[in-house]
Amino acid sequence: MTFDPSSLSNFMLFLTAWGGAFIAALWLSLIVWTYRDIRARARDPLGRILAVLVVAVLFLPGIVIYIILRPHRTLDDEYQHTLEEEALLRSIEDTPVCPGCGRRTKEGWKICPNCQTKLKKTCHHCSKLMELPWNLCPHCGTPTPGMRRDDLTLDEALEPLAAIIPEEEPEEVELQSEE
Ligand SMILES: [Zn+2]
Ligand SMILES: [Zn+2]
Repeated sequence: MTFDPSSLSNFMLFLTAWGGAFIAALWLSLIVWTYRDIRARARDPLGRILAVLVVAVLFLPGIVIYIILRPHRTLDDEYQHTLEEEALLRSIEDTPVCPGCGRRTKEGWKICPNCQTKLKKTCHHCSKLMELPWNLCPHCGTPTPGMRRDDLTLDEALEPLAAIIPEEEPEEVELQSEE
């Protein structure tokens, strides 16, 4: 094989052209990649243009600078993160807390097991749990009898009714039932 300087220069030219084409392709792909990446991470158009410009002008050092400075989370991550935070906040807000000791309580608890604070009252008609400030049972519509007292039991709740009934119909009820 004879050494041909023209073929060497052709080869060098080819190599240079190939290398140049490769670098140009790499440069373009990096710009496209940066554009796609920043579009997923930033909303403001100025930030997007700046990111693409840095990579387009500085090329490989530009991509390093971009990766260092780009927003940590993508917009999708940010959205998921917000959703998670909201869900967490909602679950914390929804968890009932004992007004006496501040510990978490469960929905069906009548009394706090820790400090014995009354948490719920029962309806005197259907015996379902009611919130303490409620004056009307939401399950059966029966109004709470008498004044609201925090230590009201079922018997105490019925007391005012028992006191009212005999006054309206004095002793006739008892006589009728005895006959
Ligand atoms: Zn408590
Ligand atoms: Zn009821």
